[in-house]
Amino acid sequence: MKRLFFTILAALFLFSHVFAENAKPADFLAGAQKAGMTFYWDPLTSSGLIEKNGHRISFHAGDDFVLQDYKTVLNEKAPVLENGKLVTNASFLNSAENFFKTESNDNPYRIGAILIDPGHGGKDPGTSKVHKINGKNITLKEKDINLKVGLKLRDYLKKAYPDKQILMTRSRDVYLSLNQRTEIANSVRLKDNEAILFISIHVNSNFNESASGYEVWYLSPGYRRQVLNAKSAGEEKSLLP
Ligand SMILES: [Zn+2]
Repeated sequence: MKRLFFTILAALFLFSHVFAENAKPADFLAGAQKAGMTFYWDPLTSSGLIEKNGHRISFHAGDDFVLQDYKTVLNEKAPVLENGKLVTNASFLNSAENFFKTESNDNPYRIGAILIDPGHGGKDPGTSKVHKINGKNITLKEKDINLKVGLKLRDYLKKAYPDKQILMTRSRDVYLSLNQRTEIANSVRLKDNEAILFISIHVNSNFNESASGYEVWYLSPGYRRQVLNAKSAGEEKSLLP
C-alpha cells in the first residue's frame, strides 16, 4: 500500500531557514541576529553564510579563515559546531560587522520572476494510487495533484508579490519534457539585476504507509554552480539542458 505525500523541489534560498533552525546554532545566531545579519547554515557540508547590506561572508565550520563576498580571505576563526551549537568569538563578529559597513559595489539581485513547474502531465501521470471512496475505485494521479497545487500556489504568489512575474511551465494537463521545462525557464525575460526562482512541485509515494510530510530540495546561497559554456559542451547533446 502506498501513501502519497508532498515533495516541493525548490531552487534557491527561500526555504533554507528551515535548515538554519534545525541546526539551532543558538550562541552564534543570537549575536548575528542582534546585529541584523541574515544567517544560513547547511548541516550537510558544515558550512554557513552570513548576509548584510548586500555583502556575504561564507565559511566552513572550524576553518582558520572566512571568505568575504567569495573573493577576499579574512583571517578569522570561522564559527565552529560544539554540542550542536555554532559558537564564535567577539573578534569574528566585530570583523564581520566592520566588513558589512563597507560600501557594496555589487548590484544586489532581486527575484524578478517565479516559475512554478507542476511535475509530469499528459501521457506521464507520475506516481498513482487507487483509493476506494464510497465503494468506487478512484485513481489519484500525481500529475493532477501537482497541477492543482501549482495553480493554487500561483494565485497565492500573485497576491503576495504583485511586482513579480508569476509564471507556470504548464497550466493544464499536457506533457512537457525536461528540455522543454528548461527552455521555458531560460526564455523568461529578466532585467540585469533580476534572478528567477524555479519551483518544481512533485508528490511522492512510498510503500511505507506511515510516511508523511514533505521534502524540500534547494540550492543553498553558498552553492557555486559551474555553468557550462555551450561551445565547450560541443556535440554532447545530453549536456546542453
Ligand atoms: Zn514526480
